[in-house]
Amino acid sequence: MVQLSTGDMLRAAVSAGTAVGRKAKDIMARGELVPDDVMIAIIRERITRPDCAEGIIFDGFPRTVAQAEALDRVLAERRMKLDAVVEVAVDDDILIDRIMARAAQQPGGQREDDNAEALKRRLDVYHAQTAPVIEHYRARGMLQSVDGMASIDEVAAEIEQVLKLHSAARA
Ligand code: AMP
Repeated sequence: MVQLSTGDMLRAAVSAGTAVGRKAKDIMARGELVPDDVMIAIIRERITRPDCAEGIIFDGFPRTVAQAEALDRVLAERRMKLDAVVEVAVDDDILIDRIMARAAQQPGGQREDDNAEALKRRLDVYHAQTAPVIEHYRARGMLQSVDGMASIDEVAAEIEQVLKLHSAARA
C-alpha cells in the first residue's frame, strides 16, 4: 500500500513553490489547518494515480469532520472505501517532548512548525478541529485506538495486530 502523508505533500508543494504551496506556507508555519477544499482537491487528484490501486494509508488526513465526509465521497467515486481508522493516542506533554527532540535533531533542516508557539497552536487546533474526527469514526464503529506512548516497535506491532483482527473479522 502507498502511504499518503498530507503534511509531506504540502511540504513538497511549499518547497516547489506551487500555487498550493504558496497558499499553505504561512498557514502551516502558524500551525493552523490548510482549508478543507484545498486538501480534498489534493487527495481527490492523488488517489487517481496507479500506485493507489492496491490500497492507501492516509497519514495526517482527514483532519476535520468535513474532510472525513469528503473522503467517503471521493473514495466512493472510485469504488473504494475505508477499511479501518487507527488512532495513535499520545498525551500532549509527551508529544511536546517528542517534537522538541525532533527539532533538536534536525538543526537547519528543521520543520518551520516545530517551535513552541506553532506547536501550542497545532495542539489547540487538534483538540478543536481534529478530535471530533475520532468521535465521527467511533460513532460509526470504525475506530481502532492504539497506545502511542510505547516504543516505535511496540506501536507498530499493535497497529499490525489491530489490522489483522480487523481483516479476520471482515473475512
Ligand atoms: P503534519 O506533517 O501532518 O504534522 O502536517 C503539517 C501541517 O500541514 C499541519 O499543521 C497543517 O498546517 C498542514 N496539514 C497537513 N495535513 C492537513 C490536513 N489534512 N488538513 C489541513 N491541513 C493539513
